[in-house]
Amino acid sequence: MDLGISGKWGIVEAASKGLGRGSAAALAAEGVNLVLNARGVDALEATASAIRATSPGVTIKTVVGDITQREVRQRVLDAAPVVDILVTNAGGPPPGNFRTDTRERWLAALEGQLLSHVEMITAVIDGMAERGFGRIVNITSASVRMPIHNLGLSTAARMALTGFASTISREVVARNVVINNLLPGPFDTDRLRGSIAFAAQKDGISVESAHAARLAENPSGRFGTAEEFGKVCAFLCSQHVGFITAQNLLMDGGAFPGNI
Ligand code: NAP
Repeated sequence: MDLGISGKWGIVEAASKGLGRGSAAALAAEGVNLVLNARGVDALEATASAIRATSPGVTIKTVVGDITQREVRQRVLDAAPVVDILVTNAGGPPPGNFRTDTRERWLAALEGQLLSHVEMITAVIDGMAERGFGRIVNITSASVRMPIHNLGLSTAARMALTGFASTISREVVARNVVINNLLPGPFDTDRLRGSIAFAAQKDGISVESAHAARLAENPSGRFGTAEEFGKVCAFLCSQHVGFITAQNLLMDGGAFPGNI
């Protein structure tokens, strides 16, 4: 299927690794020119080079910096001649017990999982509406649908982003601008490996045992890959989704125990 987005410009935040990288690679394969962002320069440049090699026809720019910083967000926006596609993403807050979550940790989570994304969406959405095309995908989490132990901070902030996206989506859908949320369950990335190591330490078991226990929880018997995540993200950025907005698409291998 031709996704119909070749030649568009997109921003993928937090894109040097994991789900952001998978999304960037899939968009570039569809001919989307990209601005990629992450804090670490080496991994970001390595990712940009790899994507240029596999998708030689597209322009890939990089902006190094913490996306939770306003100045970095502005540089990301300035690097794109026009923004047709925005994929919001950032590293999730570390897991922790709510009893010891400080106000500072709460504010950092709200900045990283909510306010940064709200500001980026606000910066691009009216231009998208004027031009009659816009696709926004927020990478959130399966925890929006089903609570995950020790992830109260990130879940609360992501649910607020979900509510914001849903509310504003109705203002722009008639202009062919849609906003959807992609909710990862367990994907085999550094993030998941970190959370398995945290669980192993907390439960006093080996990392291998924690990994096996986490795998056994999932009906698919496996973790998702960044590549398959990226392809779904690219589809949600395609010409074909103009009648789909404010949806929450769970990618979790069947872990959510509900009918709908
Ligand atoms: P990952 O493999 O650890 O990759 C995170 C990426 O984000 C890296 O490129 C990292 O590069 C970048 N990054 C982190 N914080 C950033 C910041 N403040 N500014 C700019 N770039 C930043 O993580 P992932 O698995 O792809 O996760 C992506 C998102 O999905 C996270 O919010 C995570 O909580 C969520 N999620 C993941 C899973 C899963 O199973 N993987 C499940 C549910 C939800 P630098 O460190 O160099 O900045």
